[in-house]
Amino acid sequence: MDMFKPPALELMRAKRENFAQIEEYCRSPKAFLKYMDSAGIDRAVLINYVAPEVIGFTTGVNQFVAEYVKEDPKRLIPCGSLHPRHTTNILADVEQLLRLQIGMIKIHPPHQLLFPNDYLNGVTELEIIYRAAEANGIPVMFHTGTSIFPGARNKYGDPVYVDDVAVDFPKLKILLAHGGRPLWMDTAFFLVRRHPNVYLDISGIPPKALLQYFPRLEEIAHKTAFGTDWPGPGVPDIKKNLQDFRALPLKREVQEQILSGTALQIWPS
Ligand SMILES: [Zn+2]
Repeated sequence: MDMFKPPALELMRAKRENFAQIEEYCRSPKAFLKYMDSAGIDRAVLINYVAPEVIGFTTGVNQFVAEYVKEDPKRLIPCGSLHPRHTTNILADVEQLLRLQIGMIKIHPPHQLLFPNDYLNGVTELEIIYRAAEANGIPVMFHTGTSIFPGARNKYGDPVYVDDVAVDFPKLKILLAHGGRPLWMDTAFFLVRRHPNVYLDISGIPPKALLQYFPRLEEIAHKTAFGTDWPGPGVPDIKKNLQDFRALPLKREVQEQILSGTALQIWPS
């Protein structure tokens, strides 16, 4: 919370009556675990990433989330990040991520202002991050799709640039956050079908619109994971999200696979 740039924080607060509660959850993992209980959620991946220019987050987020999950490492999975332009010693920073037992790395192209495949254009730090993740079985999640945060640049949100990463790092588990919504769902669907190592994350997509975005979702259910993107803008509540998802006309096995199965493949309990 302290790291947010004022315009970004304002967007987080906008249209949210219970922002004080979210601040409390950021301070207290105990309070957040209670909220998870009340929403019927067993485990959560806590998304953090380094994006000093647009959001204000520094590499300090990694230490923060590693500390936070100590309250219950079985239920809380720490997601951290690095930024190729904001590291003085990439190897040391990667080592630190491993030491902190980060469970996922998030790359946020529209907020980090880079393309996922920039390692092909001389950004070797990115290649080092992917290699380390691949070698250590740490999945990498890419934000795909648009962002409305002030200063975000949306050309970077096209999932097609993840195609190179999937080809060049075939053992790296890759999650496409938000399925490219609302502009690039076809690309996201194609990548999940084309690459054995690419998964779909449905967070940030209103569940009621999910089947309009992905009419053939059942075909990729075995590689699709539920998520909410809460407390991001436009995601008021986890429980409501879960209820709306459960109300979709999907087979029970398909629902279970998306709600639990895929995540358990990626992070066995
Ligand atoms: Zn995102």
